[in-house]
Amino acid sequence: MTGPHVAPSGDMPASLAARPRDARRGLPIPPVNVHPDPEGGTGTHVDFTTINTSTSSQLAAGRRCSLCGESMEYWVAFLGTPRAAELLRYTDPPGHPECLRAALTLCPHIAVARHRRARADRPSAGVMPPGAHGDKPDGWTLGITRSYRSMFLPTHGFTVYLPAPFRTVDAYRYGPDGQLTRHPETR
Ligand SMILES: [Zn+2]
Repeated sequence: MTGPHVAPSGDMPASLAARPRDARRGLPIPPVNVHPDPEGGTGTHVDFTTINTSTSSQLAAGRRCSLCGESMEYWVAFLGTPRAAELLRYTDPPGHPECLRAALTLCPHIAVARHRRARADRPSAGVMPPGAHGDKPDGWTLGITRSYRSMFLPTHGFTVYLPAPFRTVDAYRYGPDGQLTRHPETR
């Protein structure tokens, strides 16, 4: 092992490319965005803006990536706000560094996912952790570490993820053009 794998911008890992695609935009569908049929049928329903927390908890418990569903090996990554990186506390599940990096650069829904809103008409309603609402932050951080703990909060009904101290942290900021770019202060 030579350190966290850093995929160039726009690269999509094979495991993510192998996922079923969203018919409208051709985007890979992460397992955590597949929900039970809201009509109660046997089918499934894809919603990129909400996380199926029972799927995400199962994947995280098995050290599997929330975006491609495959096993995470040496490194695991967390994507969140600079504050989450400071506190080492996340409400979104971990993934392969290369999958989260690809999602950050390829997939606008990652940013949209931070605006999860309660939707009373959806079975996935209620997945809005305290502090998750509010304006789009001015940037994101990708923290890479070896391990993490999962802690289910029964009173809130969701799991928080507590990564071990990050080995590397990449910072991304929105530029004047609204594009997310890697910040030079990356350490
Ligand atoms: Zn992955």
